[in-house]
Amino acid sequence: MADAGAEGASSSTVGQIDVFWHEGMLKHDTGNGVFDTGMDPGFLEVLEKHPENSDRVKNLVSILKRGPISPYISWHLGTPAKIPELFSFHTPEYINELVEVDKEGGKQLCGGTFLNPGSWDAALLAAGTTLSAMKHLLNGDGKVSYALVRPPGHHAQPSLADGYCFLNNAGLAVQLALDSGCKKVAVIDIDVHYGNGTAEGFYRSNKVLTISLHMNHGSWGPSHPQSGSVDELGEGEGYGFNLNIPLPNGTGDKGYVHAFNELVVPSIQKFGPDMIVLVLGQDSNAFDPNGRQCLTMEGYREIGRIVHLLAKRHSAGRLLIVQEGGYHVTYSAYCLHATLEGILNLPMPLLADPIAFYLDDETFSVQVIEAIKNYQKDKVC
Ligand SMILES: [Zn+2]
Repeated sequence: MADAGAEGASSSTVGQIDVFWHEGMLKHDTGNGVFDTGMDPGFLEVLEKHPENSDRVKNLVSILKRGPISPYISWHLGTPAKIPELFSFHTPEYINELVEVDKEGGKQLCGGTFLNPGSWDAALLAAGTTLSAMKHLLNGDGKVSYALVRPPGHHAQPSLADGYCFLNNAGLAVQLALDSGCKKVAVIDIDVHYGNGTAEGFYRSNKVLTISLHMNHGSWGPSHPQSGSVDELGEGEGYGFNLNIPLPNGTGDKGYVHAFNELVVPSIQKFGPDMIVLVLGQDSNAFDPNGRQCLTMEGYREIGRIVHLLAKRHSAGRLLIVQEGGYHVTYSAYCLHATLEGILNLPMPLLADPIAFYLDDETFSVQVIEAIKNYQKDKVC
């Protein structure tokens, strides 16, 4: 299904993926309650963990250590970011506020977003680990790096926490790439939610093309004023360099691949980046409690393949993958495995899908994608 150009089956495999990780990120404890509220209504016998819990990430780590993909993985220890490194994306006032909240024992910063004891250290580790993964590429030590991090980051704006995110890990890495000599960086965000924080950080820049494919969730309050709709195209020099692809709820593998072939691939082709960042959330899968999209392992595998081709064509194979959401504790790990299989361009799937047996109807998503394409042609070209 990946017809992202003529190379297709002749593309070589990547060989290895360098994974950056530190178990200190497990110490961010988001608590229990009704979904992500932290509230106990008093009438439930069993309170679930907050969706963004350490279990999900433990499985992401273990499937790469013990799953069939393990021979292709090389492990690297992440390190915490230093405070001044954060100022390349975030305002000093915002960072100082987070430091103070941590000193005072933590609090809820916005809906579902808890900075608890241990959270700040984990956030610094997530940011620093992502920077290490990017440095690895910039130093020429590898081609594909994966920052396996939490807390996630793509909703964190320069001066605002949002959606379980404190520090914008991907945004910090993008800025590091620019500061290290990269001319143009493309960000492809497939988390089911709009990557509003990253978009906001580079909204006025023509050096960063931010593309986000997400469900059509709109704004969700003061911490997330952006709508994620097609008309958020960037401002000033950055006009035309933020492409939102809000896909209809229920979009599955075929719809996503169509969106990649019709919208993502041509945009990247036109932009010509020398670094590509894949912002990866497994919450676009069909079984995620936080999402309403229907990707399966096969869809993630195809997306991985297309992104591999784009990196090969434009950025000398250099690709940074940054972990974001993904809240089904089992299936997220399987979808990560499939994505990396695609990025490695392996000829055959290594792992069968245990739960993908629902029908996929792309009719409506194809119509919407055509409409987005026409809109962008009118506004940007
Ligand atoms: Zn998400």
